[in-house]
This record gives sequence, structure tokens and C-alpha cells, in this order.
Amino acid sequence: MSLSSLTISEAGKKLRAKEISSADLVQACIDRIEKVDGAINAVVYKNFDRALEEAKKTKIDTKSSPLAGIPYLTKDVYSEHGVPTTACSNILRNKTYAPAFDATTIKRLKNVGAISIGKVNTDEFTMGASTETSCYGVTKNPWDITRVAGGSSGGSAAAVAADECIFSLGTDTGGSIRQPAGFVGCTGIRPTYGRTSRYGVMSMASSLDTIGPLAKNVEDLALVMEAISGHDTFDGTTSKEAVPAYSKTLSKGIKGLTVGLPKEYFIKGIDPEVEAAVREAVKVFESLGAKVKEVTLPHTKYAVATYYILSPSEVSSNMARYDGIRFGHTVEKPANLIDYYERVRSEGFGKEVKRRIMIGTYALSAGYFDAYYRQAQKVRTLIAQDFTKAFKDVDMIVSPVSPTPAFTIGAHANDPVAMYLEDVFTIPQVMAGIPALAVPCGFSKNTLPIALQIAGPQWSEELLFQAGYAYEQATDWHTKKPSL
Ligand code: GLN
Repeated sequence: MSLSSLTISEAGKKLRAKEISSADLVQACIDRIEKVDGAINAVVYKNFDRALEEAKKTKIDTKSSPLAGIPYLTKDVYSEHGVPTTACSNILRNKTYAPAFDATTIKRLKNVGAISIGKVNTDEFTMGASTETSCYGVTKNPWDITRVAGGSSGGSAAAVAADECIFSLGTDTGGSIRQPAGFVGCTGIRPTYGRTSRYGVMSMASSLDTIGPLAKNVEDLALVMEAISGHDTFDGTTSKEAVPAYSKTLSKGIKGLTVGLPKEYFIKGIDPEVEAAVREAVKVFESLGAKVKEVTLPHTKYAVATYYILSPSEVSSNMARYDGIRFGHTVEKPANLIDYYERVRSEGFGKEVKRRIMIGTYALSAGYFDAYYRQAQKVRTLIAQDFTKAFKDVDMIVSPVSPTPAFTIGAHANDPVAMYLEDVFTIPQVMAGIPALAVPCGFSKNTLPIALQIAGPQWSEELLFQAGYAYEQATDWHTKKPSL
């Protein structure tokens, strides 16, 4: 088996014991990418020479960080000094934009010696649930290449599942870490809003965007979160709340805790195999000593509609900076400034981005602001209050990540609303700014991964990791690998 299939903690042990070098590990990931990525299409930029150079310089001893010498891949919306960053959009790809600085997360990972080996695919500017809106083409699901790997962090998820890297970075605005992790059978966490810094990561909807890792198991997520979380003077929305030593308390277990099952999540339309797998997982929680209680989140049914007003509104404002003047795509011989903007943006942006700019501009316009945007903000508060009430009775809430396993490529190509409904279980937590973890919990009859979502109150990442870790110790879903 390739070294690239190791977890962070397994690789770390071998590195510290000097059984392998960081360069061996980086080379194993490069070899794996060269072997399988033709079929998967996860990697959009290869920074292999620089990665190998850095790996050769990395010295590892017993005092090194657990991430020292560990290769990872980054969603192509993180700024990395000197590395082309395109958000998988022609507006930046056509005239390569390479940032002059590192996103805080990249800087923190560099500081502990982790090694960036390249960029991975995403839906254009992270708008989507299937990685089909990327200018580099769709990323395929390693379990079945006729299916999507989810989105928007489809590249980050597929790369982990296909062992092209040891871990990866994604972003989650409405589900983009959890849903792809669930579709490919890896783990991923959307942290509490404000837990990780958004500085240097291209914004989609700034009040909803979070950045977080995808990995092969919960322990690895905990290790990465320890390194990247915490206050950042460059992001005023990050919290000064202390970062717990997540990886040190994983084995605490969940005995005596109460797990909430929201009745609104087990509704018509949910795939019976998904429901069965999640109910089975709940039994595992019970066998580990947790109590189970039904909870109600009555405003769940408004979550998708609310999100698809608020998020495009913020998108319409964040996308305004891509005007072809400071960076990105340019056009020849414009008649005047307006003609220049129009052509740059018409040629540079894809269909989904344009759709959202239009919806957002409409919802924010003077005549409709009260009817849509303000109303949606109020509903957002009601959704958040549902969770606050529920967490008075339970410690965490478990549910499916998605209503179905990975869908076929092109299935929602002509129906954006059907695509938006894929986010039905991942959006409510976003409205409330709370963290949620996705862990593999089974397979469909046709061998597609199914995932469990564990959500908790703000700043409860430590508890989520303990619950996820306890579940992983009792099951082996997270160890299954696709054959490629
Ligand atoms: N699928 C959602 C959307 O298209 C989520 C995107 C995200 O989390 N970046 O908006």
C-alpha cells in the first residue's frame, strides 16, 4: 500500500522514528496523483517541485509538530504566496493571478512544517454542491466515477478519499466541507463561525463562510484544527476563545451525554438507505452509553429558502471586486469603461455565479430589500433559536449529511433548485453559526458512502471530535477505501 494512504498520526510516527522521510511521503502523494488523478480530476495545480524541495529541508524530531513534513492539498480559493489561485473561474484563470501573501491558515500550516503540494478543484467561487461549475471540469467520485464527489470542496474530498494527499483544506458556506466528505467517505468539519480565520480565502458569503479540514479520520481533523484555529488580527470575526488541545481529549467518550434526533430531518424524500444507516449509527451511540432524545427544529423547512436569499446577496457584493482591472481576465478594445466591465464579467464568470449575482442584486435592491433580505435575516434568527432551544435538552444533534448518496454527474444540470435542495441538512447549522462534523456511517447497496452529521453548540468542536472518535472506535466505515 502507498505511503499516501497513511493518516497524519500514522505518518507522523514513521517520520519521528525515521522509518521514512517527508520527501518519501511527498513523493508517494505525487506518484499517487500521477496514477489516479487522470480519472478523478481533483488536482488543478501541482506544486510538486517546491513541495519536494521543502520536504528535503524539513527536519523532524520528537519535539516537532504532528503536522511537520505532512503533505496536504488546498482548495483553490486559499491564497498562497506565488501560487496561482483561480477559484476555478475563468475570470482569474485566464490571466493567472498569483497572490503576494499567504492566507492565515496556510501560514499557520507552514509554521508547523506541513507541506503544501498543490491546489484542488472546487465549484466556481465555491458556489455549488457538485464541483460541476468549475472551469477545470467536474471532479469524479473515487467510488464511482460516473458520480459527483459533492461540492463545493469536491476536489478536497476526492483527493483525500483517493489517497492523493494526507489531508486537505476546504471551505464550508452552506455544506461544502460536510457534503463532499459524506459523498466520498472521508471526514470533515465545519467549525464554529469565527473559530478559524477567513483571511486570505476568497469570500463567497462572508457571514456564512468557514474554513476547515477534510481528513481520513477524526483524530487527523483534530490535529489540523489545533494548528489552524484561533484568533487572527487579520480577521475581525475570529474569536479570542482559547483553542482546546482537541487531539488530547479524543478518548473521553460520550457516556451519559444526550444525543438529539431532529424529527424534521427524517422526512419524505430522504433515501431509505441513508435513513437506515443513520438510525443504525444512533444505535451505536446508545451502545456507547449515550441517551437519545427526539428534538424539534421547527424552522428547518425555511432554511434552504433563507440561505438562497442571504448567500447570493453577499455573493453579489463579494463578486463586485472582479472587474478585470486589478486582476484577472481582460478584454481587448473596449468601447468604454462600462463595456469593459460588462465584457470582462460576461466572459469571465460562469452561469451559476451570474445567477447568484442576479438573485442577490435583486434581493438587495431598494424595492425588495424589506420583502426578501430583511425577512430572511429574521428567519435566520429563528433558525438559530431553534438550535439554542434544542441544546438546552441535548448535548449534540445527529442527522444525515445529505438526503441521498452521491448523485450522477449531470443529474441536476438543468435544475438549479434541485441542486439547492441537496443542502437541506447542511444549511440550518450555517444559519446558526454552529460547528458540525461529517463522519462515514455506511454504504448504499451500490457501494456509495453514506455519512452522519454531528452538530453541537458554538465552540463545541472538542465534544464533536470526542463523539466522532468514539463512533470511529466502534465502527470501521472510515477505514474503507475505493479501488482505483
Ligand atoms: N451548495 C451550497 C451552495 O451552493 C454550499 C456552498 C458552499 O458551502 N460553499 O451555496
